[in-house]
Amino acid sequence: MNRRKLLLIEDSPTQATRLQRFFEADNLEVVQVNSAEAALEHMEQIRPDIIVLDYNLPGMNGQDLCRELRVNVNLRAIPVLMLTSEKGELAETQGLKSGADDYVMKSADPDILRFRVRSLLRKSDGTSAILTAESRMHRARLLLVDDSPTYLQYLEKELQSERYEIQTALRPADALTMLRSQKFDGVLVDFEMPELDGAAVCRRIRAAQQETDPEIILIVLSSHDDKPRMTAGFEAGADDYISKSADLSITKARIRALLRRRFLIEENRQILEEIKDKELAAMRARAERQAAEIRAEMADQLRAANEELDRANQELEHFAHAAAHDLQEPLRKIRIFSELLQRNYRDKLDSEGGQFLDFCIEGTSRMEQLIRDLLAYARVSRGPGESVAPQANLNAILETVRSNLQTAIAESGSEIIVESLPTLPVEEIRMQQLLQNLVANAIKYRRPDVVATIRIGAEKRQDCWVFSVSDNGMGIDPQYQSMIFRPFKRVHDDRSGTGLGLSMCKRIVESFGGRIWLRSEVDQGSTFFFSVPADAGADRSTAS
Ligand code: ADP
Repeated sequence: MNRRKLLLIEDSPTQATRLQRFFEADNLEVVQVNSAEAALEHMEQIRPDIIVLDYNLPGMNGQDLCRELRVNVNLRAIPVLMLTSEKGELAETQGLKSGADDYVMKSADPDILRFRVRSLLRKSDGTSAILTAESRMHRARLLLVDDSPTYLQYLEKELQSERYEIQTALRPADALTMLRSQKFDGVLVDFEMPELDGAAVCRRIRAAQQETDPEIILIVLSSHDDKPRMTAGFEAGADDYISKSADLSITKARIRALLRRRFLIEENRQILEEIKDKELAAMRARAERQAAEIRAEMADQLRAANEELDRANQELEHFAHAAAHDLQEPLRKIRIFSELLQRNYRDKLDSEGGQFLDFCIEGTSRMEQLIRDLLAYARVSRGPGESVAPQANLNAILETVRSNLQTAIAESGSEIIVESLPTLPVEEIRMQQLLQNLVANAIKYRRPDVVATIRIGAEKRQDCWVFSVSDNGMGIDPQYQSMIFRPFKRVHDDRSGTGLGLSMCKRIVESFGGRIWLRSEVDQGSTFFFSVPADAGADRSTAS
């Protein structure tokens, strides 16, 4: 198999040698020149199958050379691949605007260069869609119309020797029928015919032509060389008027000239269309690349913003944890000395002073609770703890919750009903915190005149367990339901609350990969649901 020839235009000797070796290793014959000028000078002799050139050439640059190639009919079919050295936007502008068929950055992976060259060679394998004017000339189809069979035969023979394809018609009506069903490049029509004169035939042919059809050439032949006939012929749309008595070689030359002009016009139109297509394809490619770059850039920015947010969040949580921790000590001191004051110096204060001291002690214990909750909340966000039990028994956890809330349960006389609960691969401590918060709330927000009944259950759905903690308490107005999971958001004025419990529950559930929601009606009760993705290993243990 013939090796394909690659013309490499590169001024740097090092790069040239490297690329030459690279392409030769891909079984290509490489001819290398170091300037665009030299390439143009030897192009006809080299006749490459593909041109690979550096954009930045001394003297005429890659873009100028592309332009030169594209306006040359013999060279413009050769595929051109541009090597751009700069990165990003500039490389793109250079590559696409240069009119090259493709471009590759010099720094790109060598495999990309190899694939692009192969693909361009493959594409150019098919014959060019555009036939050159010269090659079309030999295949031109002509229709001769004359009522004289002798002249028709004579002319047919003469023109066949020019390698045209000839059809003849003795009657204008036949000629018009043939024109409707066949394609001709030109019609030679006798002016003097009995049925219809040549001018009328020309007029009908022009009238029948579609605007999009390539213009057919019309030549009127006449035995008379007079001006009125000539004028009539031209006015009817003829391209030429030739006397039958003229030297036939002159007639042939005039036919040739007209055909050539016609094919050149057609070729130019096709070239323009091809260039327009290429420009459109280049624009599309540019838009696609730009969109992809913007997408990539946005993804990067988003990633960076997320990382920054994570970092800021971590810093804030760390700070909150440290601050809460450090506040504990002075607060403890205030509480101890306030209590000492109360114990030892109460009788030295008047009743108003004693009341002020009570406010101090009450405020201190509330603040201690707030700090405790804050620390617990911050702990939830500081990643999973150490004691991840692969199988946390929820029934056992509920028992611990019951005993932790023993006083509150007993004081309020609440009834707690626990259904059969599963065993799940979650961190025990967190699950306990979660359930304890929900049960404590159900007790805390009970209706004063109704015995609190609290029911805890679990239901297996397709890919998760859904837990429910329901009560018959105060309920929550729908307008506040979405905000209660945010820190410090509270609906009821209960002095023992800090507004951190449910936000902590939400964090815990999310750390399990689930979500939390509620259904509630004022003065009827609330049910808090939360889901935990099920695990194949999760099973149900006996009810407590
Ligand atoms: P708090 O420390 O105030 O209890 P939470 O975050 O646990 O904070 O709850 C936020 C608010 O949601 C509470 O202040 C209360 O108004 C409301 N709430 C929580 N649980 C219940 C419930 N079971 N019934 C009625 N209201 C509730």
